[in-house]
Amino acid sequence: MAREFIVYEKPESNIARILLNRPDKLNAQNRQVILEMDDAFHEAEQDDEVRVVILGGTGRAFSTGHDMSPDRWTKEPHGVGLEGNMAREQFLYIDKCMYIRNLPKPTIAQVQGYCVAAGWMVAAMCDIIVASQDAIFQDPVLRMTPAAVEILFHPWEVGARKAKEILFTGDGLTAEEAWRLGAVNKVVPREKLEEETLRLARKIALTPHVTVSLTKRSINRTLDIMGQANAIDYHFLAHQMSHHTEQAKQFNEQVRQSAYEKGGLREFLKARDEAYRTA
Ligand code: ZN
Repeated sequence: MAREFIVYEKPESNIARILLNRPDKLNAQNRQVILEMDDAFHEAEQDDEVRVVILGGTGRAFSTGHDMSPDRWTKEPHGVGLEGNMAREQFLYIDKCMYIRNLPKPTIAQVQGYCVAAGWMVAAMCDIIVASQDAIFQDPVLRMTPAAVEILFHPWEVGARKAKEILFTGDGLTAEEAWRLGAVNKVVPREKLEEETLRLARKIALTPHVTVSLTKRSINRTLDIMGQANAIDYHFLAHQMSHHTEQAKQFNEQVRQSAYEKGGLREFLKARDEAYRTA
């Protein structure tokens, strides 16, 4: 696959680094970004030399989540309506995320700046998260009516009580807060992010790789036994339903469309977020 939005590199022979590379859009994920990212993870998996995979982003932000432009899912093969949306989100969100989550090699997310909604979702699929001090973890999707992002990872990342607060309000967490809650492994200065992530990858690459892979499998299975897989499955359906509520229809007709007609994404974010800023 020719890659337009993903950089794939090997800073060292046993470490692969996959970078979201759409910096003018703060690495917002459209269909192409997701497919290329998936392709890059497959390349890393199939390369026998590679022991650790780093996922990062170029520019100011790790990723601001799914691309929100109205034509973002054009050329979609999945059809329309609830069934089309379900098939698309299963394929692009759930399947692609769970592939990263279950990759037989250890993964590290290298996060700077905004790590929002599906950006956070993808980072959370990695085994370890290294964040720079300027990182912001946020999921403001409820402000737009769907029931948060498609994989219900928040309670597992920050605990159920904090998850409710950040989802109900859409407020962000600083890197330091995310670290305190156990959602981030390390916080480092922005200028040391790449170096510190690489150092951690190098250390993990020293550990016998079959043992690392089996241990990852066991820990992920532990989460599954605790109910994570069921919770994800349940929430996927709740999320689908939330796209089709009267409230969602009203919001799309009265807020989203008129804001986009008036001034595109910037105007839409203003309409969505302004009241929260002054509350
Ligand atoms: Zn959705």
